[in-house]
Amino acid sequence: MEKRITGVMIYYYFICKRKLWYFCHEINMENDNENVMLGKLLDETTYRRDEKHFNIDNVINIDFIKEHKELHEVKKSRAIEEAGIWQVKYYLYYLRQRGVTNLKAQIDYPLLKKNLIIELSDEDICELENVISNISEINNQDMPPNFCQKRICGKCAYHDLCFI
Ligand code: SF4
Repeated sequence: MEKRITGVMIYYYFICKRKLWYFCHEINMENDNENVMLGKLLDETTYRRDEKHFNIDNVINIDFIKEHKELHEVKKSRAIEEAGIWQVKYYLYYLRQRGVTNLKAQIDYPLLKKNLIIELSDEDICELENVISNISEINNQDMPPNFCQKRICGKCAYHDLCFI
């Protein structure tokens, strides 16, 4: 059965394809990881006054919509990551496919005290369609993609699985 592509899958696709495979196969170790805990904590404490949380089709989890037609995603990262940008572009893409257009999006990096405006171009749409098809392929594989050590491995919730 085709799996629904979620924003988290798009994020993991750009971070590590092996992590994506673990996640798609519902191997979930995220709760044990300190960094994930930090993310959840930030989620709960940042911008509390403006907070509105939307879950759309279990695909999109938008941290809040601050003003009319403005999506906000809060990232705990201390770096502006390509993966996070593509995740938010996917939100815009997903909603656009369902007739919701003219949305603006912004990623808030509270630890960096920065914001980034995200827009969706025609090239982004082509790239996302490519990414979606690659994610389906990875999901359908019986085994995870080969291990390839990365800078983020030390902080990854699946570290112990990869470094047995
Ligand atoms: S530990 Fe490294 S290789 Fe393994 S899933 Fe995490 S990021 Fe990917």
